[in-house]
Amino acid sequence: MRELRIAYPAARCELNFRDPLELLIATILSAQCTDKQVNIVTADLFKKYRKAEEYAGADLSQLEQDLRRIGLFRNKAKSLRTCCRQLVERHGGLVPRTMDELIQLAGVGRKTANVVLGNAFQINEGIVVDTHVARLCRRLGLSREESPEKIERALQNLVPQNEWASFSHLLIWHGRRRCFARGPDCLRCEISAHCPSAGKVSA
Ligand code: SF4
Repeated sequence: MRELRIAYPAARCELNFRDPLELLIATILSAQCTDKQVNIVTADLFKKYRKAEEYAGADLSQLEQDLRRIGLFRNKAKSLRTCCRQLVERHGGLVPRTMDELIQLAGVGRKTANVVLGNAFQINEGIVVDTHVARLCRRLGLSREESPEKIERALQNLVPQNEWASFSHLLIWHGRRRCFARGPDCLRCEISAHCPSAGKVSA
């Protein structure tokens, strides 16, 4: 982590948001889609819809149109509207601050809840395990597990709790910039001295 911090001093969540609702929505939209593409779509979306009530009352085909440049936009439009209706009915339109409440919402799993808790509320209740974190954990020898839940548990035993959010940012940034899924750049890798997979991953 020390060396990754030097390599990526600006590591942070790469989704643009101004409040917990915007981060929740951006994270739901980011499933199987790049953060860059989500940011393009949310730049307009967040101007048009500002409160959970506005998504909750939106016409579904209009919301689909607003999301059309994003993969799986029909499903995501439905999830977004249902999620925001639940926010209005159960939480007065506000995003809740607990894992248990968040994962009851439509379109919200443990990973999304961890993103929201860690980045909008600075609550380290879990560790975000996305495809980059899972891949890097295997390569770095931090966990042999395959399921995100088991990888998360293994990491919780290795990383101090106050570092959980920044730990996943560092791994995600390294996964995007150096330790690519195909053809990791081991020659220029800042942490190759600590990596049992250095130079051993086939392109
Ligand atoms: S040495 Fe290679 S496999 Fe290991 S973390 Fe660096 S880029 Fe990834």
